[in-house]
Formats: sequence, C-alpha cells, structure tokens
Amino acid sequence: MKTPINNEVRKPTKTISGITPVAVMLPPKKCKHGNCIYCPSMNVPQSYTPKSPVVLRAKSLDYDSYKQVVSRIKAFEVMNHPTDKIELIIMGGTFLEYPEKFQYEFIKGLYDGLNGKISKNLSEAKKINENSKHRCVALCIETRPDVCCEFIERMREFGCTRVELGVQLIDDKVYKLVKRGHSVKEVILATKCLRNAGFKIGYHLMPGLPGSNLKKDLELFKKIFSDENFKPDQIKIYPCQVLPNSELENLYWEGKYKPYTPKEIQKLLVDMLKIVPRYCRVMRIMREIPLEYLIAGSKDIGIRKDVEEDLRKNNVKLKEIRYREIGFNKSAGNLDTNLKLKKSEYKASSGKEYFLEIVNKKDILFGLLRLRIFNKKAMIRELHVYGKSLKIGEGAKEKGQQHTGLGKWLMDSAEKLAKKEKCKEIKVISGVGVREYYRKLGYVLEEGKGNGEYMRKEI
Ligand code: SF4
Repeated sequence: MKTPINNEVRKPTKTISGITPVAVMLPPKKCKHGNCIYCPSMNVPQSYTPKSPVVLRAKSLDYDSYKQVVSRIKAFEVMNHPTDKIELIIMGGTFLEYPEKFQYEFIKGLYDGLNGKISKNLSEAKKINENSKHRCVALCIETRPDVCCEFIERMREFGCTRVELGVQLIDDKVYKLVKRGHSVKEVILATKCLRNAGFKIGYHLMPGLPGSNLKKDLELFKKIFSDENFKPDQIKIYPCQVLPNSELENLYWEGKYKPYTPKEIQKLLVDMLKIVPRYCRVMRIMREIPLEYLIAGSKDIGIRKDVEEDLRKNNVKLKEIRYREIGFNKSAGNLDTNLKLKKSEYKASSGKEYFLEIVNKKDILFGLLRLRIFNKKAMIRELHVYGKSLKIGEGAKEKGQQHTGLGKWLMDSAEKLAKKEKCKEIKVISGVGVREYYRKLGYVLEEGKGNGEYMRKEI
C-alpha cells in the first residue's frame, strides 16, 4: 500500500457516506441447503474466490474476527480515515448456520477488536463499546431468506442493525432452477419480520440468471418496488457471472447458458436505476471478481460510473439515495445549504413507512430517517446523517454535515409523527456505539433477555 503524504486521505470514498466500513470474513463452510448453481466452491468462504483481497486478508489472520477488526482499523488509520464510527459487515456464507457457540464468539471478537481488549462475555464487550474509541454504529449480517425469522432475537443480541438477504430474483421457477432452496414466500416473510423488528433491509439481486431474460428481470425489478411485500431499503445488483467450480460453469461449457453481454447489462442497469425510489440506496453494482476466476460475464467493474455519467449528461435525475448523497455531489458547484425536511410515506409489509429526508433545493441529500408504524408501534429503523465521517465530538466545518444538529431535527420530526399516529412510545434500533447519542435525546436502553435491546422513549 502506498504511504499517504502528510494528511492525505487515501481512497476517500470509503468513508464518504459518514461511517467507516470494516468487512470481516467467515471461515469457509458450505451452506446447509447445498450449492446455488452460480455459486463457486473453492475451499474459501462460500461464494468468494481465493484471490479476493478480503479473503486473502482474512485467511492470513486465520479468519479470526478480533484480528481482522484490529488489522482493518490500523489500515484505515494509516490511510488517514476516521475510525470512531465503524460499521461491521460479516461476509462469506450463511453466518446464522454456523454453530451457535461459534457465532457468539465471532461477534464477541468483533467488539473486542474495536475495544482493544478481551471481555468476559459478549454483553460486557457491548457495554464497553458504548464508550470506546472505535464504536460500532452499525452491524450487518448477510443471510438467506429462509434462515432469518427464527434468529431475529439473536441478531438483536449481537447488536445487528442491518440484514442483507440473498434474494436474486423473486420467481419460484428460477429459484428451483438455480437450486436456491427457498421460495418467494420466504423472501416475503423474512422482509416482514426484519422490518417489524426495525432492521434495515438490503436485497442482493442477480439479473441474468438461467430461466430469466431481460424482460423478466426488469418486470420483477419493478415488482420489488411496487409490491408492498418487498420494498427494500437498499440493494446490490450483481449481474450473473460464470465462475469456476460452479454448476453454471458446466451449463456454460455445454452451451446451455449464456450471460448477458456488456451492452445488455448497461441498458438493463439504466432502466433499473430509473425505477429505484427515493427511499432505496443502490449500494453496489457488479461484483469484483479477480479476472483469472471469471469464466464468462461482464468484467466492467466501472460500469456504474459510466452509466451514471451518461445519465447526468442527459439530465436524467435518479432518485436513489447514493446518487443524491452530499458526499457524491460536492463537486456540483456551490453547494446550497438551505435545507428543508421532506416527508414521503409508503406501505410495506402491512405497515406504514415514513421516509424523512433533509435535502436542499437540488434534492441533494444531507440526512435521512426511516420510521415504521405498525400496530400502533413506532420504530425508527435508521437515522443517518451523510457527509464525510467526522470524529465523535468533532464539530462540523461545513453546514449540513454530521454534527450540525441534523440528526436531532430528524429525530424530533419522527417523534412528532409517532405521536400523531397515536403511539405512546418510540423505539430505535441502535448500533451499540450510538446508544450514548440516543441517551442524550432522552432514550433509555430496554435491557433484559429477549426484548431486542432497543433504545426507547415515551412520547
Ligand atoms: S446461499 Fe449464498 S453462499 Fe450459499 S450457496 Fe447460495 S449463493 Fe452461495
């Protein structure tokens, strides 16, 4: 790695959205249902290839969660990124299918790594993290839709705030063909129980699977945002690629499967991006596969940039979150910081969702909040103030960044809305390291087994 000069921040986009992401990898373990036909099996964490940087790093540290966190934080520090607000992301297989004891130890190791000391148990590790130098502001677990609802309580005990579901394409025929081992019904159920428990929900989507086609991919993509059973808060779009040691590889060599061409993918992405509503963030497009492992499929890792540049040139404005975030719009001339609160409302999984945003006239996004109302209960599923990550306690240098009162503005507005909806209390799903922030706003931690460890306030 190149050493940064003076205070130069290397790879600035890594923390441009306001938090520092630390990805940790699980040791290799096969999924219980078998193998999805596009998923490679290469004696490395499931669905990854041996030369992915994150795999190489994790392998060299024996997949130890403590060591992985410590080493990533050091790397961020060397690159001059702030490391106060950390998002932990657990990757590589179906974590909730690992032995229970392993899961608890792995999670404890993550918090211990942030705290820089070994605790007696998970509960102590979380408690220490509430005031530690590197606080966990969010924790993400990736899982399958059929390995989800029964573990809601456990995920809350882990301090998890976001769950990414492998959804791929909401079509039972395609699920069968690609051996997913679950149906659309489980996607609907998982989405609902995660939403009611306050989690932020991400979908991984895979256009170009066997049994699908461009028309079907686009139609089902539309359905994801028009049918209230789905409506994820964020998505990753990974067009299907042919990787070694997968069943799809055989189909490809037998001439029974052909991935989309780069041109087809580009056109499909443009059509998809135009559909994504303002409450959803497109986290990533394309998986970065080391070229030597890519048998067929698009290699164009920069496709998103090209597509977005084209859209901007043609004056097409996208509504999705990332495109509008202040961090990605800094170069758009003089930044107007006259801000207003914008409220949208939509139905999802038999409840009402309020999506609050702080935007300027050009619709550039400075902060957002997701409030769910169901059965007279109010649950804040996300509070996020955008802009470059600032250290805890550090004042903002520019108006409209983190630490300028935007969070409080959003929280006050959510409380008013919850009152209007006749809720007696409001809860927030909170990363362990954000609890102190909510305490200052009058929230208390609901302790005790099985209560979800939410921050709660009577209103
Ligand atoms: S569930 Fe995910 S990790 Fe498991 S085999 Fe399927 S694609 Fe691979």
